Amino acid sequence: PVVTRFAPSPTGYLHIGGGRTALFNWLYARGRGGKFLLRIEDTDRERSTPEATAAILQGLTWLGLDWDGDVISQFARKDRHAEVAHEMLARGTAYRCWSTPEEIAAFRAEAEARGTYAVFQSPWRDADPATWPDAPYAIRMKAPREGETVIDDQVQGRVVIQNATLDDMIVLRSDGTPTYMLAVVVDDHDMGVTHVIRGDDHLNNAARQQMVYDAMGWEVPIWAHIPLIHGPDGKKLSKRHGATGVHEYQAMGYPASGMRNYLARLGWAHGDDELFTTEQAMEWFDLSGIGRSPARLDFKKLESTCGWHIARTEDAALLHEVEGYLAAAGEPGLSDGQRDLLSRAMYCVKDRAKTFPELIEKARFALISRPVAVDEAASKALDLVSRGILKSLTPRLRNASWTREELEAILNDEAAANGIGFGKLASPLRSALAGRTATPSVFDMMLVIGRDETIARLEEAAA
Ligand code: GLU
Repeated sequence: PVVTRFAPSPTGYLHIGGGRTALFNWLYARGRGGKFLLRIEDTDRERSTPEATAAILQGLTWLGLDWDGDVISQFARKDRHAEVAHEMLARGTAYRCWSTPEEIAAFRAEAEARGTYAVFQSPWRDADPATWPDAPYAIRMKAPREGETVIDDQVQGRVVIQNATLDDMIVLRSDGTPTYMLAVVVDDHDMGVTHVIRGDDHLNNAARQQMVYDAMGWEVPIWAHIPLIHGPDGKKLSKRHGATGVHEYQAMGYPASGMRNYLARLGWAHGDDELFTTEQAMEWFDLSGIGRSPARLDFKKLESTCGWHIARTEDAALLHEVEGYLAAAGEPGLSDGQRDLLSRAMYCVKDRAKTFPELIEKARFALISRPVAVDEAASKALDLVSRGILKSLTPRLRNASWTREELEAILNDEAAANGIGFGKLASPLRSALAGRTATPSVFDMMLVIGRDETIARLEEAAA
């Protein structure tokens, strides 16, 4: 069974790169009936904060990336990490080291003076136990000095690292705390992680981590190191390119389903498919579809993707998301009446909105109350002649059956009677109904707000 994980360090908000890594792991597991686990790598006590953990969980929750089981704290597992370091000692794949930082610095300085790059070689690697001091010691991995370590990466291919370039890294410090490199491996092993999908900034770590697996006789997981996300200009993504936090996209009102679709396409492809549902992504997602070059952010594409998702979301679900958006934005909630009107308006406003604020803006006609505030263009459209037409229209509407067909017949008839095209009539109608000239179709607005409100607004505008 497939087990993947997302292992963020809680030092800030959820970055979209992290969101994408989480998504890839989630899709891979969910598409295969596997498990997706969440581990907070909070061993760095100085930099880790509970606020950052909360922000990461919030970002994942908004993205809809649910994890299996409890959130695992790496720090809470420190005794287990120490235990494994001692097991490595017992297996002879690690050794006690009493080298001081000064000795290590001197070793390096000497190598530098000789003009050679040398990895630190501890004198304690093969020291006679009779010479061991009675003092706290670090535990170092007894890394192979010859040969090579081969990372068989699903994205990067075969990556070969010369063992001579890697030192005997410390796995347990002399104060008894584990190093990050040990903790990751122990946790992934204990959690049964089968696939490690993460940013390629961790590719170098993979070689050292693989040595720990070997040192413990554990099975190495399948590696997939994905290229980082770049800005639209092809440079490393930074704030100057635009929003980098998942929460910022939430705040801008992009739908989570669109965000998942867009993030999935950042570095992964399934043929020519650009727009797809999350179910399709789960079904299609595969490591072989991950590209080797960095994906570029493309805000236009993000918008069109999100527009597609809003348009195809079922009305009730969309309304629910809009309310979630308003709540997260600290906006006042909808009254029952507004909710009802918005839900009735959904069908005619969701087609061209790329964000929730845009959707709400298009549905404004349904949410406003009288007197309708009229903008400049709308008040121009409501000239004397058109106000007269609106006045003669209202009695006819009072007796109409409120169907699209009948409303169309009445309005066309009214336009013809006045010797104008329907277009000429639509503009004052839009102005009267919405206070502006750019609106959904007149018929849609009338059907959504209903007879009484329509007549009241027309009378108000005609007065
Ligand atoms: N905690 C690491 C990070 O946030 C990830 C480590 C991993 O995925 O193995 O970059």
